[in-house]
Amino acid sequence: MNELSPEVEVCVVGGGSAGIGAALAAARAGRETVLIEAGGQLGGNAVRGGVHNWEPGVGGTAFPQEIYERLRRRPNAVTVWSFGRHWCWPHRNHPPFPGGEQLADRARTYADTLQRHGTRGLVADPDRVRKLWHGIVFEPDDYAAVVEEMLAETGCCHIWKNLRFASCEGASGRVGRIHAMRENGRRITIRAPHFIDATADGLLCRAAGCESLVGEDSHAAFREPSAPDHPRPRMINAVTLIYRITPRSQPAVEPLPAGIPAACWFRNDWGGGSIGEYACGDRNINMLPTMEGSEFLDFVEGGNDGFARAYAECRRRVLGHWHFLQVEYPEFQHFRLKWIAPTLGVRETRRIIGEYALTEQDLHQGLSGQRHHDIVAIADHALDIHGQGDRGTPDGCPELSEPYGIPFRCLVPKGWRNLLVAGRCASFSHIAASSCRLSRTMMDLGHAAGLAAAQAVRKGCAVGEIDIATLRASLAAQGATLAWRPRAEPLPA
Ligand SMILES: Cc1cc2nc3c(=O)[nH]c(=O)nc-3n(C[C@H](O)[C@H](O)[C@H](O)COP(=O)(O)OP(=O)(O)OC[C@H]3O[C@@H](n4cnc5c(N)ncnc54)[C@H](O)[C@@H]3O)c2cc1C
Repeated sequence: MNELSPEVEVCVVGGGSAGIGAALAAARAGRETVLIEAGGQLGGNAVRGGVHNWEPGVGGTAFPQEIYERLRRRPNAVTVWSFGRHWCWPHRNHPPFPGGEQLADRARTYADTLQRHGTRGLVADPDRVRKLWHGIVFEPDDYAAVVEEMLAETGCCHIWKNLRFASCEGASGRVGRIHAMRENGRRITIRAPHFIDATADGLLCRAAGCESLVGEDSHAAFREPSAPDHPRPRMINAVTLIYRITPRSQPAVEPLPAGIPAACWFRNDWGGGSIGEYACGDRNINMLPTMEGSEFLDFVEGGNDGFARAYAECRRRVLGHWHFLQVEYPEFQHFRLKWIAPTLGVRETRRIIGEYALTEQDLHQGLSGQRHHDIVAIADHALDIHGQGDRGTPDGCPELSEPYGIPFRCLVPKGWRNLLVAGRCASFSHIAASSCRLSRTMMDLGHAAGLAAAQAVRKGCAVGEIDIATLRASLAAQGATLAWRPRAEPLPA
């Protein structure tokens, strides 16, 4: 297929976790697929945003596990981690550590990373957390290479990078074609019977005219017990610019660049972060957070290339933060700053209104209480909001007692026939999104969207008319976990 008049069966826009899952599923189902990605590398936030980490959680047994197995064949490309120190555990935080420490733990397996629920929380029960919470840290370039390899093996997935979705044409609940732009201004028009928006910001859906929400929803929106009486559209989860450090032979404090104050200028103190060890010994530093969501919105809505200005300000904060860590915690003098993520880690922007919205009630009912016929992914991460309106501080983070399911209808924009949305901008309430937005869950949702689009192409039907039992059976046959049974043995005390 060339770029002059591309016509495919499934067009996926956005090559992050969800887009990768969607393109892989559609192409493995034998559908001619194109994946367009604005950046020069696949992976989205999990690569260019610096989130080289999969948090503990259920699900993730299909494509994520396959990616993990392939990464294991590459030297130092991936490892499981376990908790080391944590600043909420004074009795274990020696020498004092500025946040949560995740240490490479080669004795653990992938299966160990598939649980978060059932603990009483990070602060309440550190021993159980150390025994039960394990995640994955991977090398981003290896991850991107593995994913491209998997897509290429399908023989029917075209990956077009450095191509930015710009606009779309359509009517009566159908997208007809989309227009995308090369950096040199060259316009490419893509026709397809089915489209999947995996841009994380719902860009294709919004261009098509789908309704969306932003910020805290009011109680009236979804009757959520913890929602405020009035919507607060500027209250979005905070933004973090992730950076990476590498060991150095001679301890030193790196000089603070000119123009960067040593004292924190944007809040009371520098705060800490989630600091994880890569297989090679480098560390990934996820400041919690770098910029409040509302401040980020002020930048991006303020025009004049607001995203680039927000990035520049976050970069200054990263340099200040790194200096603070080196001065206050001497162990960091054995490291040097190696890399700052090329794009901001944005946890939340707009969410598309779908045929169903996942809510706080779903999270608390769990699979045993939910009554949905169309669950296509499961998750169990706690409610996790950083920054203003924090619901993500270790002691404020309500852990769930069991996993919950995410219905397929969350991926169907309300009233649309050939458009699906996968990723953090799917149909979730603000509260529900704070839990389910993790990378592996987003990939699982992309998987479901890709299979659904493939089925819709085969049957020539609308996405809302596909056979859900077939979709769920295909997901299960491909390794996805859709049900949950309590462990036969109790969790370790
Ligand atoms: C700071 C931070 C820390 C996090 N920590 C963790 C963690 O430890 N563990 C975990 O599991 N999850 C974590 N998350 C959550 C998780 O990483 C994200 O929610 C998830 O990666 C979102 O996946 P996505 O596919 O929806 O979006 P993305 O990964 O953002 O992918 C969207 C893709 O669309 C592309 N795109 C955007 N616009 C266009 C366009 N116009 N044309 C073409 N392409 C376009 C982008 O370039 C990008 O590649 C974190 C998130 C953040 C921000």
